[in-house]
Amino acid sequence: MMELDQDAVLRRYATAVDAAHGELTRLDRHSGDGDFGDNLRAGLRAAVARHDRAGGPAFAVLGEVFLDEVGGTSGPLFGLLFTEIARADGFAAGAAAGLAAIRRVGEAEIGDRTLVDALAPAVDALHGPHPFAAAARAAADGAARTAGLRARRGRASYLGDRALGAADPGAAGIALLFWAVASVAE
Ligand code: ADP
Ligand code: MG
Ligand code: MG
Repeated sequence: MMELDQDAVLRRYATAVDAAHGELTRLDRHSGDGDFGDNLRAGLRAAVARHDRAGGPAFAVLGEVFLDEVGGTSGPLFGLLFTEIARADGFAAGAAAGLAAIRRVGEAEIGDRTLVDALAPAVDALHGPHPFAAAARAAADGAARTAGLRARRGRASYLGDRALGAADPGAAGIALLFWAVASVAE
């Protein structure tokens, strides 16, 4: 993971999630139990605190904190993504490995209205020109498209059509990660 300033990504992502906490909460109230904003913000704040205290590569710290401490369905799934990014040789390879791990554990297909709908197009876009900017746009577009999807995984799958009209919160959280990466990289 040589091409990105990981520490800057961690700080930028934590700041973005603090600012978006209300919106993420609103989205998870619409289609879930309302705790997604709390889960993601708590994990990022804990990761920043641990990183300030103990140092180490930021994505490794994020992976440990989310796997060990963060609740909800999203906590361990984000933890897998961060851990694979920390392990891989390069951000694109790590994001692809993280997507594969999330799909193995969560069994979501593309179109099931989960964070996979933001992550999968972002991973694809990392292979093109201007990879970080393209991935940020692909993740944001993928998250926005989830507003038109009926959920087949997670809590929102109990709601049928009632989840329609607002984006999947986990997908919105992934879009913020790729925004943070692009804003640091380019
Ligand atoms: P919970 O529903 O347990 O409260 P969170 O609110 O932390 O969990 O996270 C909800 C998000 O988790 C959803 O918006 C969705 O993006 C993601 N999610 C749920 N189930 C799956 C799954 N099987 N695969 C991938 N992502 C999932
Ligand atoms: Mg929730
Ligand atoms: Mg919950």
